[in-house]
Order: sequence, then structure tokens, then C-alpha cells
Amino acid sequence: MKSKLILNATIVSQDSKRSVFNGNILIEGSRIVYAGHDEMGADEIIDATGKIAMPGMINAHCHVAMTHLRGQIDDVPLSSFLEKTFRLDAERTEKGIYNSAILGIREMVHSGITSFLDLYYSEDIIARAVEKTGIRGFLAWNTLDEDKTTQRGNPVKNAEHFISEFKDRDLVTPAIGVQGIYVAGDETYLAARDVADRAGTIIHGHLAETREEVYNYVRASGGERPIEHLSKIGFLNQRFIAAHSVWATLHEVRLLSQASSSVSWNPVSNAKLGVGGIAPIPEYINNGVTVSIGSDSTASNNSQDIISSMKFGSIWVKNDRWNPAATSAQMLLDMATVNAAAALKRNDIGSITQGMLADIVLIDTANPRMVPTTPSNAISNIVYSADTSCISDVMVNGKFLKRDGALMIPSHEHLQYSDYN
Ligand SMILES: [Zn+2]
Repeated sequence: MKSKLILNATIVSQDSKRSVFNGNILIEGSRIVYAGHDEMGADEIIDATGKIAMPGMINAHCHVAMTHLRGQIDDVPLSSFLEKTFRLDAERTEKGIYNSAILGIREMVHSGITSFLDLYYSEDIIARAVEKTGIRGFLAWNTLDEDKTTQRGNPVKNAEHFISEFKDRDLVTPAIGVQGIYVAGDETYLAARDVADRAGTIIHGHLAETREEVYNYVRASGGERPIEHLSKIGFLNQRFIAAHSVWATLHEVRLLSQASSSVSWNPVSNAKLGVGGIAPIPEYINNGVTVSIGSDSTASNNSQDIISSMKFGSIWVKNDRWNPAATSAQMLLDMATVNAAAALKRNDIGSITQGMLADIVLIDTANPRMVPTTPSNAISNIVYSADTSCISDVMVNGKFLKRDGALMIPSHEHLQYSDYN
């Protein structure tokens, strides 16, 4: 097994003490076997002088096969956005889904993302793109009521089949999703939950995203709110990762907390779609709800970039609460690393410590945006100062997917827009 030594980095470890120190990281195969001050040899030495080494970021909500929709559905409300998305989705080909997934994965790796949680149908095609590129994919096959979908067959059965087919892969972790309460009734929610319970997978879905969605639901149900309803039918559990959950009352925050469900916050997408409010992040955190962070699709972001999401999300909360201490850089970095790993029920990603999988990002602190960087301000600089141009190297499972600024994975060049559809 070949070893690699990342030498003399400023290590933002995200360990239990959130230690930041100058040191070395030894990798054997796909695992980190040492992170500390000791000097040692290895088959390959990577000189990381002047670089930060941090855990790869985890994009906790996206739709990677929609990357080709960048700039195609801008400046419209979510209802029109979904209507156009569903229409375009119905016309897609396998080749288009695959090419678009490769495009999105390239962008994520370029931006320092080493794992992503995806919600879509045809996750079997996206799984091929994950394995081709070498990124880590948590792929939730989307379900909704059979009469509201263009999927062939029963969506829950399709998801169950996908999970059984891909359950023993290395980079692909299959899961099940539910699109949202506006297209899925109790039967679909509980059937999806049953699949997740039996297979031991996470379950992922949009929830309480826009004011319109929640108010329409409250009106139709005679006063019940979406999160209250999912709690009442026994759907919420510790494996549920709710995307958005912008429109939650304090009571609903507590219901998510009691069920140990987690929230994937998508601040850029929420603001761009004008959801009419901001997710109650301080309340989630104060009530013990694990909060991770996602980009959402390229149609509503318009990038797969977690650094800009951390910065935007953090400053949006500060402004909303008239309090610059309402969020901290450490809080946001936790969302992008250890919190996401906890939500995904993985104890082998999200930090640079002995025994973890070697999902590591190097950031060039000689980039003008990052000067000056020391161990004491490294986390602030990652969250508030960096952009994707500062990401020099990206490693997943001990293998470089980006090296000295160059992507090492298949190209999307020379494809026409129609090749992504
Ligand atoms: Zn979404």
C-alpha cells in the first residue's frame, strides 16, 4: 500500500477540540494513519508549506444532474421554477443526466467538496458518474406520489431497487428521498421511511422551504403545519435529513430535535428563490438540531460552492438578528464538515484525525485573499475570505482529484447544451 505524507501544513483538523496546528499528515491507501507534529517518511511527499489542510467539504443538499440548468431558470418564484424543472426533467436522456452529473462533480471537486448528498431520480446513472470521477456520493433516490411523477414504475420500489443494487459500493452510499409534502402524501412518506428503516439508510427530502408551500399546506389541512404533520404520522427519525426547513415554528424546531432529525440549510438557494424568510439557525442549534449546509441545484444557486454558502449564510443570520455574534466561522465550518458527517451517520469523514478516510483539501494561503493566515485566523479566513481560487488540491479516499490547481477527472469540454439534456 503506497503512503503519502502531507508535510508542514497548517492543519485545521476539525477534531473534537477543533485543534489548528502546523504539522504533518500520513496517508496509507485511503486512510489517514497519522496527523501531528512527528517527522516521518513516505512513498510520496507533498510539501504543504504555506497551505492549510482541512477536511474535504460535504455538500449536504444538491441535485447534481441539474447542473446544465445553470442560468436557465433565474429570477422566478419556486412554483414556476419547479414547473419548468419538472417539464425539462421529463425530456431528459440517460446520457444527459450522466454528462450533467460529471459537470457538477467537476465543479464540486474544483471547489473543495469531497462528498455530496444528492436528491434525484435515476441515481443509478449518477452513481456511475460518482465512480468514474472518484468523489464520494450519498445518493437519495427521490420519491413522490405515483400519479405526480414522470418516473417509470413506482418511485418507492425504484428507490428500494437502487439501494439493494448499490449497497456495497465504496464511494457510493445509496439512500431514499422524498421530494416534498406538495407532491407526496402520507402513504409515500411512510413507505419511504419503511424502506430506509429496513435498509438502514438515511432519508432525505425538501421540507418547509417557502412561505407559499407552508401556507398552502396549512390552508388545505385546516391549520396543521408540514413539520407538525410529519411528526404526527411518525415519519421523523434520526436518519431524516430535511433540506431547507426555513419556515419552522419554535414548536417544529423542537419536534425535529426530539426526533433527532437534522436540517440541511441552503442559504444561497433560499435567498435567490425569495423564500420570504431565513431558516431559524440559532434556534436549531440551541435546541440541539444538527445543521449541515448545501448548495441546492445549480439552477437555484448558481454554483456548487460551499465556501460562498458558508459566508453568505453566516452574514445573513448576523444581519437578520442584528447580532454579529449570532454565528461564528467555526459554526459554519462545522456545518460543512463534522455536522454533515454526523447527519449522514458517518464517523469516518469530516475531520483530519487518525483512522479517518483521507478526504482532504489544501488551501493556498499565498493567494492574495488569504494573506495573512496563521493558525489563529485560519478558520475565519476559510469561511469569510477564501473563494474557490484558493483551493489548490483535493483528495478523496487518498487519491488526488485536483492537484496543484488542475482537475484530474474526466473533462466536460466540447459538449453542447443538448448533450446535457
Ligand atoms: Zn433541492
